[in-house]
Amino acid sequence: MATPKEKITKVLIVEDEVAIVTLLRYNLEKEGFHVISTGDGEEAIKLVKDHRPDIIVLDWMLPGMTGVEICKHIRWNNDIKNTPIIMLSARGEEGDRIRGLDSGADDYMVKPFSPSELISRINAVFRRMRPSLSEKILEFSGITMDLTSHKVTRDGADVHLSPTEFSLLRHLMEHPGRVFGREQLLDNVWGHDIYVEVRTVDVHVRRLRKALNYDNKQPDLIRTVRSAGYALEENPEGKNYINDDVAAAE
Ligand code: CA
Repeated sequence: MATPKEKITKVLIVEDEVAIVTLLRYNLEKEGFHVISTGDGEEAIKLVKDHRPDIIVLDWMLPGMTGVEICKHIRWNNDIKNTPIIMLSARGEEGDRIRGLDSGADDYMVKPFSPSELISRINAVFRRMRPSLSEKILEFSGITMDLTSHKVTRDGADVHLSPTEFSLLRHLMEHPGRVFGREQLLDNVWGHDIYVEVRTVDVHVRRLRKALNYDNKQPDLIRTVRSAGYALEENPEGKNYINDDVAAAE
């Protein structure tokens, strides 16, 4: 079973100089990044398609395809064109920098540079382009919750939740598999200080289920546990719990 976790950022390094790859890999992995690498342009494009890295560190000078060609190729390909790219080059002239950025790179670094500078640039690209990636993300069975932007998706599609349903889902996603009674959910989600009718929980669970099951095809991941409460669980049999709510409430 999947558990809530911080999303691990996957970095693809495209560089034929083994010493540089080794140095970058060591430093990026130390920072918690997942690193894949290749020194070959064709292979790089295949890796981008197959592994969907969160960012590409792309050397300009490679045997075969150049970094600029790879960059353009990625930008022309609809499936992968939004992948951020930091281009590396031994050449530091202004014209090169502009050509690198014109080819579609998000940033450009001149060798030699320190690994810590690259890490700062990677984080800066994420802050600019994808603010959520440097922040906390919860994932469970196809549901992704970005706690910073409050964006929720299921199987890649946006799910629109009210603030209460968001808090409810967050609580369940932080404790997958655990059964919560309605009183517990009231305390944890609504807070101790306010009085809310316990049936309110059922209403919000029902709304949350409907929002998560936006096309009536996905299995219901919120299990109704009779006379106990609710739990976020995998549902491989595709059982529909929505009609059990009343029974659970008794
Ligand atoms: Ca090179």
